[in-house]
Amino acid sequence: MAAANLGVVFQGAVTTNFNSDSSLQKSFLKTQKIGFCEPWARFSQLGLKSNTTLSRYQSIVCMSVPQAVAKAKVTVSPLDLEDVTEPPLNLHKPKEPYTATIVSVERLVGPKAPGETCHILIDHGGNVPYWEGQSYGVIPPGENPKKPGAPQNVRLYSIASTRYGDSFDGKTASLCVRRAVYYDPETGKEDPSKNGVCSNFLCDSKPGDKVKITGPSGKIMLLPEEDPNATHIMIATGTGVAPFRGYLRRMFMESVPTYKFNGLAWLFLGVANSDSLLYDDEFSKYLADYPDNFRFDRALSREQKNKNGGKMYVQDKIEEYSDEIFKMLDKGAHIYFCGLKGMMPGIQATLKRVAEERGESWDEKLSQLKKNKQWHVEVY
Ligand code: FAD
Repeated sequence: MAAANLGVVFQGAVTTNFNSDSSLQKSFLKTQKIGFCEPWARFSQLGLKSNTTLSRYQSIVCMSVPQAVAKAKVTVSPLDLEDVTEPPLNLHKPKEPYTATIVSVERLVGPKAPGETCHILIDHGGNVPYWEGQSYGVIPPGENPKKPGAPQNVRLYSIASTRYGDSFDGKTASLCVRRAVYYDPETGKEDPSKNGVCSNFLCDSKPGDKVKITGPSGKIMLLPEEDPNATHIMIATGTGVAPFRGYLRRMFMESVPTYKFNGLAWLFLGVANSDSLLYDDEFSKYLADYPDNFRFDRALSREQKNKNGGKMYVQDKIEEYSDEIFKMLDKGAHIYFCGLKGMMPGIQATLKRVAEERGESWDEKLSQLKKNKQWHVEVY
C-alpha cells in the first residue's frame, strides 16, 4: 500500500506519520508485540504487560493515549474504491465462493461477558470488494447435514470494516461474530454437538486458515452519503454494531476525499454488561474527538436499570431521548436497526407509544419514513 503519508494505525500499531520504510513499523507489523509501542503509549497505566500480544481491542486503547495522535485521521488513498457509483453485489456466488485467508481472530469481550464475540480479520486480496453496511456470506467447511454430499449452507455476516478494511489497503474485511453455543434447557449444560457450525468455525480459526466467502450482499444498510451533514441514528444490539463500526470509521477515522462527514452520528448500543461492550475504545475516541458530530449511548441490561426499575434495553434509551429522536426524524434523519430479531418488537412498541403520546400516528409515520428511505432494518 502507498503508505507514505498515513497518519495512524497499522494492525494496532500507534504511529505518527511513519512512512512505509520505517523499520520500526515493519518490525511491529511482524511481531505485533506491545513492547514496540511503548514509546508512545503508557502501557503500564493500562495494566498491560509488555510481552502481551497486542489485540485490536487493546490497540485502540493505545490510540487514545498519546496526544500526538489524538486528532490524527487516516488518509486513505481513493484507489478505485470510490470511483464506482453502484455498490458491488454478489461478485462471488455460493457455487463459486472466493477462498480468502484468515488474518487474525481476536476476542472482543471481557471475562464477565456472557458468551464470546470475536473480531475476525479476513484477507480477500481485493477480490471481494464491498461497501460499508454490506454483508459477506461464509460457507463453513463440512457437509450439509440436510443434503449429504453438498456443502454447508451460507451464513451471512455484516461487515464491520470500511471498504478499505482495517489495514486501509482495500484487501481485508472484518467480521464481528458471536459464537453460538447451545445449552441444554433441562440440564443447563453446553451440548457441543448442537453448537453453531459457522460461528464456531470462525471464532476457532487461526491465522492462515482458509475461509470460503460469498457476496458482498445487501443494499438496505448502505450508508447514504449524498448529504454529508445528515443525521444518522444507529440502534444496535450485540453484533448488530458491525455495520455501524464501518460507518463510524468512514466518518471519523478515515479521511476520505469524497465523503467529508459533518453531520451527526448517534449510536445506541445494547449489550448485557460493560464487559460485553464492543469496540468501546474506538467509539469513546470519536466521542472525545468529535463531540459535536458523535453521540454514544450504551444500554447495559444486566448492569443498569430503566426508569421503572427494570433492565435497561436500547428501547429504554430511545424512550429517554424520544423527543430529540422524533424531531430529528421529522427533519430527515436516517434511523438504522441491526442485531437480533428479538430487538424489534420492543423498539417498535416504544416508538408507537411515544408517537401516540405526541398525538401522532406511528403507522403513518413509519410508512412515511419507509417511503423517504429513512428507515433501515437488518435483523437476524
Ligand atoms: P447454525 O449451525 O446455523 O445453528 C443455528 C443455531 O441453532 C445455533 O444457535 C445452534 O446452537 C443451534 N442449534 C444447532 N443444532 C441444534 C439442535 N439440534 N437443536 C437446537 N438448536 C440447535 N451473526 C454474527 O455473529 N455477527 C453478524 O454480524 C451477523 N450478521 C448477520 C447478518 C445477516 C443479514 C444475517 C441474516 C445474519 C447475521 N448473523 C450474524 C447471524 C449468522 O448468519 C448466523 O446465523 C449465526 O452465526 C449462527 O450460525 P452458525 O452456523 O454458528 O449456527
